[in-house]
Amino acid sequence: MDFRKGPKSPGRTRFFTVCAILALALAFLFYIAVSGGSAEVERETFAMGTLVKVSVYGRGEASLTSAAEAALAEISRLEELFSVNIAGSDISRINADPAKPGGHEVSAETYELLRLALSEAEATGGAFDPTIGALVSFWGIGTEKARIPSAADNDDIADMQSVVGWSKVSLREASAEGGEERTVYFVSAGAGQALDLGGVAKGYAADRVAAILRARGVKSALVDIGGNLVAIGRSPKRREWRLGFQDPFRPRGNYFASVSVSDATIVTSGAYERFVRKNGVLYHHILDPETGYPAMSDLESVSIVMEHTGSRHNSARSDALSTALFVMGFERAVKFLEGHGEVQAVLVSRREDGPAVYVTDGLKQRVAVQEDVFPKAKEVGR
Ligand code: ADP
Ligand code: MG
Repeated sequence: MDFRKGPKSPGRTRFFTVCAILALALAFLFYIAVSGGSAEVERETFAMGTLVKVSVYGRGEASLTSAAEAALAEISRLEELFSVNIAGSDISRINADPAKPGGHEVSAETYELLRLALSEAEATGGAFDPTIGALVSFWGIGTEKARIPSAADNDDIADMQSVVGWSKVSLREASAEGGEERTVYFVSAGAGQALDLGGVAKGYAADRVAAILRARGVKSALVDIGGNLVAIGRSPKRREWRLGFQDPFRPRGNYFASVSVSDATIVTSGAYERFVRKNGVLYHHILDPETGYPAMSDLESVSIVMEHTGSRHNSARSDALSTALFVMGFERAVKFLEGHGEVQAVLVSRREDGPAVYVTDGLKQRVAVQEDVFPKAKEVGR
């Protein structure tokens, strides 16, 4: 029998039905493969005095969720070590008796962060100085106890300013006694000094969180600790992350420029978020260690961008530097950047003819300044 001419056999119909089902199944599998079966997990909390947001992308919702939760747990753990507002934290114990003979035993993390803070203090000529604690708590800016000192307080401020000095802090490590193979860490500060890691702790925490996420195999994530960003890998759209620079003249979430990066940290410091204003003077939370007063900076904001090069401390370093460059003001900041090619930055300076945006060479290809939101901006610099 010539089956090509005959009526359709039930066998042939079944064959085509099976083919159609197989084709549909293949199309579905292809869709899953292309879309990655992708999941997105976001977790938010309030920690380190600010809003924390961790967003992780990839496959396997359960493992992404546990990675994001491990991230938040790590931030709280570090806050317990570093916070000046938590009695019994490593830093609070040091501040209660700074010059204790032999020093205070602290965690490896506090030791590591202090070492980094001291090294950035040295590198920035003391513009960043973690021994500024007494002044930070005196001014209280950003807290409910913020105050504007009167002329009668000038002597107190001068006294507090005179004890600021990173070189008086000493770090010591030793082997634990009693046969255990363990290193113990000790810190002591100068008499009358108080430590404050508010200018670096968020960056340090962001670095640690990024390390935890990477170690768990996360390939795409965004960590945001109060505007202190670390981007891991590429965005969930498999492109570079496009991240915004906060417009210093408008509320949080408004940007004046964006940068395209993968695996990088972006940290911004400015006087526009934590401040009080009196008689037209802005008293903000970034203090000048040389005067004891809020830095009279001609900068509106400083953003540092560092690509992930394997260093474990890029975000902590960027955090310290963004604070330091703000204190330095435009001219000194530009000189500093000229001597540190590995540090890329976007500065917004205040000039008589309007704000000017300065972008370092290494970022020029990556940064797009939005002319429409920042019409008077002029690009200056290297
Ligand atoms: P933010 O905490 O708003 O992101 P910064 O990273 O610039 O801003 O850190 C400011 C904090 O750092 C202050 O709230 C204070 O705790 C501390 N600080 C202020 N001035 C200095 C300074 N010159 N050096 C080191 N730390 C500082
Ligand atoms: Mg900082």
